Amino acid sequence: MVIVTPGRAGAGWRWAVGGKPMRPMTPEDHVPLPHRSTLGGRATMPEHLLAALVMLDVDDIDLRFAHGEAPLLDGSALPWVRALRAAGFRPKPPGLQVDVSFHGTTVSWSGGTGPAGARTFIDADEARAVRHLFPGARPGDAVVFRDGGALYGGRPRMADEPAWHKLLDVLGDLGPWRARGRLTGSIERIDPGHASNGETLARDLRDGRLHWAP
Ligand SMILES: [Zn+2]
Repeated sequence: MVIVTPGRAGAGWRWAVGGKPMRPMTPEDHVPLPHRSTLGGRATMPEHLLAALVMLDVDDIDLRFAHGEAPLLDGSALPWVRALRAAGFRPKPPGLQVDVSFHGTTVSWSGGTGPAGARTFIDADEARAVRHLFPGARPGDAVVFRDGGALYGGRPRMADEPAWHKLLDVLGDLGPWRARGRLTGSIERIDPGHASNGETLARDLRDGRLHWAP
């Protein structure tokens, strides 16, 4: 369970596990593990919630991970976006352009919540190998592919759903950087993954392709 409450104006994004006091989220909190991200190794799978906060361009928010894990829900960011929209958050033009290529398909985002519905996907053999990492996962939480066809999760929700989900994960992994303020610039990724997303963001900031808005 995650308790999401509006933050104090100017406080940025903050997070806590269990009953601990809220602390500001920082880039150092981005600690990827195989197949998922964590915050500081203590709150797992925050990436789809963080992607929703990036897409809705939220400035100040408090996240309490009651049991150290964000629920997988339907494997996308759509439930988070719906809940945040119901609470009054609306997307604003972010000043950020993100292009992601995955297995030769390129998708682009420059605002709005379009990528929200793209679900987690995994290859059937890989799914068996990593099943123990997601004890709460059920069939339907992810699109499982075998030999090019979808095994679980029904039909794709959108064209190029895997590429859109990769873009969604890039947005989520941007969260610990977005936490302290709005980012502007452009991001280009080819076959991105949680393991490399942090390093490439840090490089883009050093190179000036990405910067915090004044
Ligand atoms: Zn994901």
